[in-house]
Order: sequence, then C-alpha cells, then structure tokens
Amino acid sequence: MRTGRFFLSLGLLAALAAAPAFASANIVIVNTDGPNEGFNDPTPAAPVGGNTGATVGQQRLNAFQHAANIWGSLLDSPVPIYIQSSFDPLSCSATAGTLGAAGAIQIFANFPGAEVQNVWYHVALANKLAGEDLAPGPTGSDADDIVAFFNSNLGTPTCLATTFWYYGLDGNHGAGIDLVTVLLHEFGHGLGFANFVNETTGGMPAGLSDIYAFYSLDTTTGKYWTQMTGPEIRASALNTNHVVWDGLHVTQAVPTTLAFGTPLLTVVSPSGLGPYRVGAAAFGTPLSAPGVTGDVVRALDAADAAGPTTSDACSPLTNAAAVAGKIAILDRGTCGFTIKVKNAQDAGAIAVIVADNAPGSPPAALGGADPTITIPSARVTLGDGNAIKAALAGGTVKVTLGLNPAVRAGADPQGRALLNAPNPVQPGSSISHWDPIASPNLLMEPAINADLTHGVDMTIDEMTDIGWFSDHDGVPDGLDSCLRSDQSATVIVGGCNSGVPNTVFSTGCRISDQVAACAQGATNHGKFVSCVSHLTNDLKKDGIITSAQKGAIQSCAGGAPIP
Ligand SMILES: [Zn+2]
Repeated sequence: MRTGRFFLSLGLLAALAAAPAFASANIVIVNTDGPNEGFNDPTPAAPVGGNTGATVGQQRLNAFQHAANIWGSLLDSPVPIYIQSSFDPLSCSATAGTLGAAGAIQIFANFPGAEVQNVWYHVALANKLAGEDLAPGPTGSDADDIVAFFNSNLGTPTCLATTFWYYGLDGNHGAGIDLVTVLLHEFGHGLGFANFVNETTGGMPAGLSDIYAFYSLDTTTGKYWTQMTGPEIRASALNTNHVVWDGLHVTQAVPTTLAFGTPLLTVVSPSGLGPYRVGAAAFGTPLSAPGVTGDVVRALDAADAAGPTTSDACSPLTNAAAVAGKIAILDRGTCGFTIKVKNAQDAGAIAVIVADNAPGSPPAALGGADPTITIPSARVTLGDGNAIKAALAGGTVKVTLGLNPAVRAGADPQGRALLNAPNPVQPGSSISHWDPIASPNLLMEPAINADLTHGVDMTIDEMTDIGWFSDHDGVPDGLDSCLRSDQSATVIVGGCNSGVPNTVFSTGCRISDQVAACAQGATNHGKFVSCVSHLTNDLKKDGIITSAQKGAIQSCAGGAPIP
C-alpha cells in the first residue's frame, strides 16, 4: 500500500444532525503570536457575551477555544487536532478585507484506514481514520493539522472601519462580526469541508483527487469530480445550479434543513424560454408562491445625467402607460437598485426584473433599502436578460416572478444540496461552499450571514459522508463506508443491472456503496474485479446475498468498464 503525503501551500486556503453519542475530539489551539500582539494583545477589555477574558488577546483566544470546543463535541477522533492560530494584520482597505482563513496543513492518501483509495484526505480526518498521528512533531510546526489566521486590524480606520469583531460567546453580535461563527466556518474548511482542486486550472495536488471531490457531482455530465479531466473540472466549476453534493447523509439531511421555495422566474409563454434563476431583492415585497404573473415590458427613461441609457430606469419612466400593470425589465448600472425599482413602481409596474449589465452567474441578490417600495423585484444574469429582451422583440412574453414551491432553496429538483459554482471562478470560494441561494442560511455558504447561530447544520452531514463517523456501522469487514446516495432498487455495476436487491444496511448504506468503494479504490480492472469478488464473498458469508446473486454481481463487474 502506498502512503502519500502532501504539504499544502497557503494559496489553497479558503477565504443538528445526528452526531453519534459520546462523540468527542480534543481540539487544541496553538497560539503562534508574538509578545503583545494578536492573542497576546494586553489591551484591557470588558467581559462581553460570556467571554470573561480581561484583555483583547485573551478574549480572542477564548473565542477560538470556544469554537474549537463546539467542533470537538461533534466530531470523534482518538488523535488530538492542533490548530495553529494567529491574529495578525491581514490585507484590508476601508471597504473590503479578509476576515480570516483556515485550512488543512497537510493531506494524506492511501494511509491505513482510508475508506476511499487514491484520494487526498484532510490530515485531521486521516489521523482519525488511521487511529494515529500521521504527522507527529512539535506544536507550532507543520506537524499541526490546521492553520488559522484572522485579521487583527478589523475595525481600524483603514480596515472596514464601520465594523468590528464581536468576541462574545453568546451570538449577540449586533452590528459586529461574530468571531465564533466565522471560526466555526473556517475550522469547517480545515476539518474537511474543502476540496484540493484548483478550479481555475483543473489541477490537483500531485495529480490526485480528494475525498470532497469524490462526492461532488456534475448533474449535467453525470460525472463525479474524481472522474473528470482537467478541462472537465474547469467546465464543471462554472456549471451554476448543476454541481451537487452526492453523499447519503447530506441528501438525507436536506429535507429537514432547507426550505421549499427557490427564487425563480418562470416563462409562461412563449414556450422554450427559461426558467431563470434570480437573485431576490432585499427590499420590497419578498418573492412568494405562486408569485406575480404578467406581461414583460421594457422600462424606458431619458438618457440624462441620472443615467446615460434609456434602459437604466435611473430617471422617471417615459413609457409609464405601457408599464402600468406589467412586469418591467430594466438594466443594472449607474444608479442604485432601489431608485430603478421605485421609478418602475411609480409608473405602475407590478414587479421588476433587473437585467445584469456584466456577464457572470448566478445572479446576485439586489441590495438596498427603501421602505416605500412595495413590489417584488429580482435580478437575472446578462445572458438571461438578453434572451428575454430578444423574445420581447418578437412578441409578447408572459412570466411569473416568485418562488418555485417544488424545489428547496439550496437543493436541485432531485433534492441534492447545491454547491457554489459561480462563473467566473472565485478561487477559494468555488465548489468548497454550499450555494448561497440556500435558505435558511447555512454555515458553509461563501459569505457569513448575520443570522447564523453557532450551529453547524448540514456541515456535520458532509463530515459524516467523508468518513468522520463511519467506523461503527455494523457492515461486514472491509469497505464498510457509506458512500454517495445511489438509491437504485437493484445493484447496478457500470451500467449492468445485476438484478440483485440493493440491500440497505442498518446505517442506511447499501451494497452499491460498497461496489462504489471498490471502483474508486481500484487502479485497474483486475483489482476492481478482485475487490468485488472479496466483497460479494463476504456478503454471501453473512447471508445477505445468495450464491446466484453473488455470481450476478461478479458477472456485471467482470464486464464493467471500470476503472
Ligand atoms: Zn469559506
């Protein structure tokens, strides 16, 4: 067995489910700050939100340990997890900056205990599966497991001056940024919620894929990220709405986590157009089901000092009679969204579609506030806006703007959790987060939402899928991990239907999960066949399948184009 080990460069770092009883892992914060700075900042501080540290530095350290303890109470490992931590000045300006980041320091593949072969694992999980510290050494060195660094300048005049870190442990952050929440998110990346793929180049460390990619599925091509070439990875990373997490535990958690009602613009007529994903507005009447239906009309205004085009709606509309009672479409640019939507509302529009003026997907939300706006509005991409305008040039276009009640916000129509797949790629954000359309908001969305409450929601199910809790499932020896969410009734191997019932074990895992593990682990067809042979012998020995069924699965494996 080959043991692989790889040190990660910092460039890779990213910006209640059923945890088993008695789970615990010891997560240690390793303070690497120097005297009188960061965690050692001696500036006196008053107790805040249950954080009794008497100095700024101690409060920072307390918040780190608090977040570490939350993860430690949920995960399970015999090997302590060391988080190399610092609070330092990071890149920042008055309007934008880095809050902090964390990631695995090392990754391992093909170590004893690895459930899936030939993929990288975050070192903390690799240690847990191996039952030993695969990277022993002194603290404060590369022998640590996760590196975390956070911005000590936040809230100073040159760094996002209007905000500040909230060091309290109670979540009552008010206008501040809740440090514990950001830590839970970043530690999540370091513990296993991240791939090691470069979405821009399609490259992978030493050419090997990873356990996160193993569950990342492109629903257009039907390929997992572990099965893709570099060019296929680059294309899939941009496939907004069509990259999902295909792991059993996450898929089972979706119904109790995400709410029905995903924002959508549906075209009633003509046929063949849409539907289009939309970014809902933060102002006006929220999108609802069944939504607002009407004919689309282009909003026209003067090209003047307020806005240089006749389609930006920065001035009062000049075709109010045509817009009244209709759904107005207008262009992003020059003035704020609330000004545009208010002008359309004043002209009598019943809803507004804002067409983006720059390429990219998915369409972001419309920001702004104006309590006098009462109609719903949302953004579509430049491409989708152009398609609607082209159809308008040919006749009437009737649409419904609202929520699709049949699809959960953050899931695909089949109920699998969507991954963040923006176009263009956002390094550190693409794929290694949930899709930001998720509702309610999730811990591992690309941006930290203010309403998060120190829970880890579906992150724990992702951790379960990748192997944090799979050593107690009672499945026969070997290959006992529960993989993906293939729920076909019979065992299908490489397109060949064996006809054998796809038995569900007490854990929810199926025979197909075990065959998938064989397929993933094998480096050639012979090894795959041998693995399936071993597996089916075990299943027969345990009385789960008959001799004939064993033969049927082995026969399929023999003819399957795997690997
Ligand atoms: Zn993140």
